[in-house]
Amino acid sequence: MPAAATLPIVNPATGSVILRLAADGPREIAQRYAQARAAQPRWAATPIRKRVAAIEKFREQVLARADTLAETLTKEVGKPIRQSRNEIKGLIARLDFFITESGRTLREEKVFADASQHLDERITHEPLGVITNISAWNYPYFVGSNVFVPALVAGNAVLYKPSEFATLTGRHIADLLHASGVPEDVFVPVIGGGATGAALVRQPVDGVFFTGSYATGAKIAASAGKRMIKVQLELGGKDPVYVCDDVDVKTAAAAVADGAFYNTGQSCCSVERIYVHEAIHDAFVDAFVAEVKTYKVGDPRDESTYIGPLTRRAQLDVLRRQVADAKRKGATVAIGGAPIKRTGNWFAPTVLTDVDHSMLVMRDESFGPVIGIQAVADDAAAIEQMNDTEYGLTAGVYTPDAARARRILARVNSGSVYWNCCDRVSPRLPWSGVKHSGIGLTLSTMGIQTFTRPKAWHLRSA
Ligand code: NAD
Repeated sequence: MPAAATLPIVNPATGSVILRLAADGPREIAQRYAQARAAQPRWAATPIRKRVAAIEKFREQVLARADTLAETLTKEVGKPIRQSRNEIKGLIARLDFFITESGRTLREEKVFADASQHLDERITHEPLGVITNISAWNYPYFVGSNVFVPALVAGNAVLYKPSEFATLTGRHIADLLHASGVPEDVFVPVIGGGATGAALVRQPVDGVFFTGSYATGAKIAASAGKRMIKVQLELGGKDPVYVCDDVDVKTAAAAVADGAFYNTGQSCCSVERIYVHEAIHDAFVDAFVAEVKTYKVGDPRDESTYIGPLTRRAQLDVLRRQVADAKRKGATVAIGGAPIKRTGNWFAPTVLTDVDHSMLVMRDESFGPVIGIQAVADDAAAIEQMNDTEYGLTAGVYTPDAARARRILARVNSGSVYWNCCDRVSPRLPWSGVKHSGIGLTLSTMGIQTFTRPKAWHLRSA
């Protein structure tokens, strides 16, 4: 990697370069690592209430700068402005969770005491040390804060590499954390693309926390594996929803369409496959397409826009290939089906029917505004199709029947399951995937403890 490679920051809605930055090379990365290593013990020795207080201050700063942060996100990622504001609001809710829960989750636990044996057993939660956080661009505030907030609160130093597609947001995050009392050597931004990320993983860190694609996650696992350090990988999904025959069709269609197209389909938990009971299939497709027709595609700065550009230009080819493959194998294009001809990275919201699992669109992550709808004969067939995937991030079912939903979801192999909802993350629940969707977890109290190692104390007073 050249020492001072240039990183262009591109507006995906227009294709224009916003600014060019110098990417960090091997020398800068080694320096940043050394700074973090030297600073971490002092941060770990800072009382936890002071570390939490810094996050409270960060929360205030985010609120005070919310409009600017949302505008930057829209400019560099192409996220429609209302959805950018929603992400900032959601960030506040996550910060509230970490602020409230960290103290009691990380405090020393007395798990056993027996006076007759003079024995006391305790657990303390020790920081891992210096960790690397390599992040994705699609929800940079969410996926970043899931890692760096609990990691910092637990006493770690964090080398944070924002995605090359969300670098300006990453710089905002660093500035606000530093202004809130997190030392610059404790939260250390590293700027660059894949080569920078790979060099960062090679540093002698104590943990690697990654959010991104399976392809990159597999490379990171291979690179870090021999070092016996903690590696957490939050990867992609091909998330299914099954719509039963007893739903209100219009309501279910609107909810599932939102799950598929929100954030222009670029969420790890976007609905990526829809299975509909054959008894309501045609009515569901009609209602679904009618809903998609109401979506306004356009300038992401416009308040009424729902679908923006794709953040990464290369994804246009992925979607083109998936649609062509599906058509060749017998799918019907109910709406959309091609890129939109305008400057920037635009793809029309696309609904494919008559799809099956021989088609790429039902197997590979689309990560864009393209969705397949497949008819199924019954619940058993739906479960079989939902589990026929290399991924396992989320899965949902729509039915008014709680027992039916429970029966179906119990048999689905994924980290999260949804009844009458989808494309949803809660700070109170663990966020994890199975198979190619990753290893480890963030969020919930377990997602705070994951940035620590438990130390077992066997204490005999006599
Ligand atoms: P990506 O894998 O292309 O990049 C992610 C990060 O890895 C970026 O910062 C990139 O610079 C870096 N990187 C690239 N090559 C690297 C290498 N060899 N070594 C180290 N770092 C490297 O993914 P993306 O396009 O940023 O994000 C989209 C993917 O992320 C989708 O698959 C999506 O489903 C997934 N995702 C998952 C979650 C989750 O919580 N499970 C959340 C958001 C996104």
